[in-house]
Amino acid sequence: WFDQAHFIPPDAIFALTAQYLADPFPQKVNLGQGTYRDENGNPWVLPSVQKSREILSQKLNHEYLPIVGLASFRQEAAKLALGPELFAKQQDKLATCQSLSGTGALHLAGLLLRAGRASRPKIYIPEPTWSNHHQVFASLGFQCETFQYCNPETKGLDIDSYYAALKAAEPNSVVIIHACAHNPTGCDPSQEQWRELARIFKERQLFPLFDAAYLGFNSGNVDNDAFAIRLFIEEAKLEAGVCLSFAKNMGLYGERVGCFLLATSTEETAVKTQSMLEMLQRSEVSNPPAYGAKIASTILADATLRQAWHDDLITMSDRIRSMRRALYDRLISSGAPGSWEHLIRQSGMFGFLGLSPSIVLKLREQYHIYMAGNSRISIAGLNEQNVEYVGDSITECLKQ
Ligand code: PMP
Repeated sequence: WFDQAHFIPPDAIFALTAQYLADPFPQKVNLGQGTYRDENGNPWVLPSVQKSREILSQKLNHEYLPIVGLASFRQEAAKLALGPELFAKQQDKLATCQSLSGTGALHLAGLLLRAGRASRPKIYIPEPTWSNHHQVFASLGFQCETFQYCNPETKGLDIDSYYAALKAAEPNSVVIIHACAHNPTGCDPSQEQWRELARIFKERQLFPLFDAAYLGFNSGNVDNDAFAIRLFIEEAKLEAGVCLSFAKNMGLYGERVGCFLLATSTEETAVKTQSMLEMLQRSEVSNPPAYGAKIASTILADATLRQAWHDDLITMSDRIRSMRRALYDRLISSGAPGSWEHLIRQSGMFGFLGLSPSIVLKLREQYHIYMAGNSRISIAGLNEQNVEYVGDSITECLKQ
C-alpha cells in the first residue's frame, strides 16, 4: 500500500532535543526548543498551576468534554485575549473552540477557512517564521506565500517590506500574524506600525489570523501583548481569527491547552461558524482533552489565582530579560566581533543571533551548545551557571 510513500526528515527542533539529550558532555547547553527553564535549568511548574491542580484534585472526574470544549475555558480564554470590555461587546459575534494547543488552533482555523468559504484563500506567511506554519497550512492544501519580515542587515523588522507585501497581496487572502514576540526574530511592530498595518488589512480586505502563543509571556503583561489583537478587532473593526496557546504562558506544554477564537461582524456569522467548528472538531478529535483546560480555566476564573499567574508571568519574563542582557554583556566584554544591539532590541522567549550555519554547527560539535539552525536561541535555556560559557564560546568561534 505504501511503496510510493516519501521519507520525511524528522522535525529539526525535536531532533535537536534528542541529540542534546544523548550528549554525555557535562557542560552541554540546550538553547533549542522553546520551553521555559528555571535558574537551575529545570522545567518549572508554575505555582499558580500547582495551586489549580490542588483545587482540581478534589473534584476531578474523567468525563468527556463537549465537542467544542469546556465552556468556562472558552469564555475565559476569549476574555483574556480580548480584555473584559471588548469581550462584553463582541461576545455575541464570537465563535470559539477549544483546541489542541496553539498548533491545533491554527489547524482548526485552516479547516474553517477551507470549509467555510466558496474558494480557498491564499495564506501569506512572514519569512522567517515558526517552522510549523508552512506545514500546517500546506498540509491542508493551501497555497502559501511568504514575505520578508526581517532585514538581514539590521536583524530588525523590515516594516517597509511588510507594508509592501500586504499592498501587493491578493484581496481576500489570509495573513498569519505573530500577535507578539515574533518567533524566531523577537521583533514586533510598534503601536504606530500596528495601526498602519490594520489600516492596510482593511483597505486590502485581508483576513488577519493571529498566532498568539506568547500572551503575557512576552512582556509579563497580557494587555500589552494582546495590543494588536484588540486594535484590529475593536479599533479597525476587522474580522479576525486568534489562535491561543497556553503552552508557554502557563507552562502547560504537554497538556495541549489552546483555543481558536473567531471575531465576526454579525451574530448570524458567529452562529454559523460556531456550528462549523463543532462539526470540524467532531470529525477530527471528537472532543478535546479536559485536564489542561480545567487547570487553565480554574486560574483564569478566580481573581486570586489569576493574580498569582500574573506574578508567575513576571517571574518568567523577568528572568528571560535578565539572561538576554547577561548574554549581551558577556558577548561585549569578551570582545565578540560585530554588533549585538539586535539581541537587546528583541523581546520574548527567543534571541535571533544572526550567526552563520557553520558557526551554529561548530558551537554544537565543539562546544556542545545546541541552537536552531537559523541561530535562534531559547533564552530560557541560559542561567547564571552557563551564560558566560555560552558568550565566551560564541566569541571564540567567531574569532577562529
Ligand atoms: N506558534 C508559535 C509562533 C510558536 O512558537 C508555538 C510554539 N512553539 C506555537 C504556535 C504552538 O505551540 P503549541 O502547539 O505547543 O501551543
